[in-house]
Amino acid sequence: MSKIRLVSTVAVALAVGFVLAQYVGLSPSQAGDEKASPVKPRARDFYAPNSEPLGADEMRIVACGTGMPTARPKQAASCWLVELGNGEKFIFDIGTGSAERIAALQIPHNYLDKVFLSHLHTDHFGDIMALFIGGALAGRQKPLRVWGPNGDTPERGTKYAIDHIRKALTWDIDGRRGITDPRGYHIEATEFDYKGVNQVVYQENGVTIRSWPAIHSLDGPVSYSLEWNGLKFVFGGDTYPNKWFDEFAKGADLAIHECFLSVPLMVEKFQFTPQSALAVATQIHTAPEAFGKVMSMIKPRMAVAYHFFNDYDTVGDLLARVRTTYDGPISMATDYMVWNVTKDEIRTRMAIVDEDVWPPPATEKPQLPDASTRIPYSDFVAGGKLDIRKVIQPIYDEANKKYGLSEKQDD
Ligand SMILES: [Zn+2]
Ligand SMILES: [Zn+2]
Repeated sequence: MSKIRLVSTVAVALAVGFVLAQYVGLSPSQAGDEKASPVKPRARDFYAPNSEPLGADEMRIVACGTGMPTARPKQAASCWLVELGNGEKFIFDIGTGSAERIAALQIPHNYLDKVFLSHLHTDHFGDIMALFIGGALAGRQKPLRVWGPNGDTPERGTKYAIDHIRKALTWDIDGRRGITDPRGYHIEATEFDYKGVNQVVYQENGVTIRSWPAIHSLDGPVSYSLEWNGLKFVFGGDTYPNKWFDEFAKGADLAIHECFLSVPLMVEKFQFTPQSALAVATQIHTAPEAFGKVMSMIKPRMAVAYHFFNDYDTVGDLLARVRTTYDGPISMATDYMVWNVTKDEIRTRMAIVDEDVWPPPATEKPQLPDASTRIPYSDFVAGGKLDIRKVIQPIYDEANKKYGLSEKQDD
């Protein structure tokens, strides 16, 4: 490409970027009331990942999983990304199917190294393997750090779960040794007391994360708050309505709490018996009417309901039930819903994502591994290789020439 062509390409890219910056993410009210043009774009009210700066005082929350333990194309299970104007990012829960939603946000994986688990149901941490290994492969050059509650026995705690997930991945990680950048293939669990009441579990760089007990399934689950820059985010995880949430979620700018499917929906669409539906949807979880009651007590600037299949024929029933006990601001969450929170405004939009997404650039250069740590095949397995060195050699020649290397095929 000639220099002039390159310059003009850059100029066009800058111009397109300028136009996008003008129109993407601009709300219709912000765009003024100019006459619609037949050739110019109008303001569009969605969030396009990797296209919008985050204000220094702003918090952005993206719903990366809002559904049920049975993931489906439209909704992964519980996962929430919190991004702060100081550059810090936190993942709350990493439920089944949610890693692909995280990937769609095009965030370099070095910024996605902190996960806080509400509890150890798979709909709240089932994609931890995908984030751990897939993130390392896509440019996380540091350990994945996981915070979560202990249990009433050591075997029911976060550390036990994470340590055993690491052990279960022995074959996976051993097979990558000596071949790719090794720095991301470590996972560290920090466990705290599930009975801690509004205890600080993380405090760095102006960010304070606290936990308190939740009542769900067995002893162990917790809820979290994240406070930064005078803004408060609350994530309930799964819980029966409880006194701690009532006390410590108060004053939340954005409060996420489960709002389970109604009993008739559990029976008619989820094929539960009425007995099981009553037990699960009202006793283990929070019924929509109870969700409304909780939000009426804590009065957040924005209540966020999740943990239901959000369809045209379910959301009306659930919202009507919530409205019997709550008349404040509410988002009936679905995947890729986005909230920009400042002291003045909470703006709710949907993200429009590119399904053809590739890993974003790493923040540091990849490190070459120590090739001597690679674990060889047995002679038995290696002896089964077809002799196709002549087919492969041109690939080596091409890459060696293109990248200035002198790599050789395996013996
Ligand atoms: Zn659960
Ligand atoms: Zn759940």
